[in-house]
Amino acid sequence: MPNPSLSVLCVASECFPLIKTGGLADVVGALPLALERIGVKVTVFLPGYPDVLSGLTDKRTLVRLKDFPKGQARLVTGKTITGLKIIALDAPELFSFSGNPYQTQSGEDRADNAYKFSLFSKIAADIANGDIGRKRYDVLHAHDWQTGLAAVYLHLRGITDIKTIFTIHNLAFQGVFPNSILSEICLPESYMSRDGLEYWDKVSFLKGGVVYSDHITTVSPTYALEIQSDAEGMGFGGLLRSKAQNLSGILNGIDIDVWNPQTDTEIPHPYSAANLSGKKKNKAALQKAMGLRVAPNAPLFSVISRLTTQKGLDLLADLTDQIVENGGQLILLGSGDSEIENTFRNAEQKHPSEISVTIGYNEPLAHKIQAGSDAILIPSRFEPCGLTQLCAMRYGTVPIVGRVGGLSDTIIDAGPMALASGVATGVQFSPINLHMFSAAIRRSILHYATPKIWNKMVENCLAQDVSWEHSAQLYKVLYASSL
Ligand code: ADP
Repeated sequence: MPNPSLSVLCVASECFPLIKTGGLADVVGALPLALERIGVKVTVFLPGYPDVLSGLTDKRTLVRLKDFPKGQARLVTGKTITGLKIIALDAPELFSFSGNPYQTQSGEDRADNAYKFSLFSKIAADIANGDIGRKRYDVLHAHDWQTGLAAVYLHLRGITDIKTIFTIHNLAFQGVFPNSILSEICLPESYMSRDGLEYWDKVSFLKGGVVYSDHITTVSPTYALEIQSDAEGMGFGGLLRSKAQNLSGILNGIDIDVWNPQTDTEIPHPYSAANLSGKKKNKAALQKAMGLRVAPNAPLFSVISRLTTQKGLDLLADLTDQIVENGGQLILLGSGDSEIENTFRNAEQKHPSEISVTIGYNEPLAHKIQAGSDAILIPSRFEPCGLTQLCAMRYGTVPIVGRVGGLSDTIIDAGPMALASGVATGVQFSPINLHMFSAAIRRSILHYATPKIWNKMVENCLAQDVSWEHSAQLYKVLYASSL
């Protein structure tokens, strides 16, 4: 029986609604709340960025850290407006900057990334062990490379009775640094081995999490298999195969209170599965707001994404004419690769009444786009889980996706069998290339023109359970079974 008073220290570098660059923040903001609802006590440990510290309520100093090697530091406790319990490392010399946590404005990795995230991970290990903060935890659950060393610092101290879970949200981000960093971050040279942190003569913090944690999870069952292959393991395939017994894929959910078309204050016309008239009004409002032709019957495609080759959006850049020529429209919100940004800007200039491009990160606009569009395009080359398609389904917006990772686990392709049995929730394509993506867009436009098919897909999307409920149970069992 799972221990009802299980306590978990969740360690991460991002957490919605305090600081977010992508899906990691959504997961760290929502999973602990779902775990709390089923009796697991979770505290989230975060770097004390200005947005984190200013976003906390009931804030107080837990402890001042004596002997902190980089200026003054203290641990601050507080809550998010969503009710999450937070401990933040307020260390101004490391974290008192705004903007992207990992990169400077010009897109360079911040020079002190290795140092500050290793120190953050070391403090995480101390908190988990009760050395600071008075309370000892049963489980330390660390997320992504920034926190990969937390399990290493527990190992260094011979602490084996705190269970360590490490979740890989994206294997592409490996936290690789010169091996000279080891002495700076108080780790002995012995960790610089093939069985340790060594990665092609450098050190990888992600590898630290993989090697020294009791269990590794990733964010969908298919991605858990993909990353064990040489082709998709990004240099970690062999290592992850060797960990297969302790590696599982647990699908992400979304916070269905944040993403709720009935109560969403960001959208002009709330709606529900029972009455979709609001969705039609949102479409018209969105077309108007984005300067597009207000056309109720034009299939309105959207993109809300980082603009990178991972996300396959370089392929979409070649298909914008096809969408417009077939009577469709496109609204894109995102930022990233400047070349991809520019191709979309050009497409917007070419078709100003059919294509709207917003470069940037804009949470309220993301909600309006989800509510007002007919279909969302996610042509990812790889996708650990993907949250955008889950938000889309919650808003009755049909996902058109590459058949990879979590996209293949969460979407049922509108093939003949799925259509005949009325279970389709979207359109998938594979392999990920221009030809197949183009065919998927054509197929989507045909389905859109057949209201019986399209309306059934919308209905199916709205009926999906995209909440954390089921997956939180799986994490609870995992925490308890590994004790
Ligand atoms: P990632 O690989 O970027 O983490 P996910 O699909 O897992 O991709 O999660 C991305 C999250 O960030 C989703 O909630 C998505 O809606 C949101 N998002 C991505 N780009 C933007 C943007 N430009 N503006 C607002 N939200 C965005």
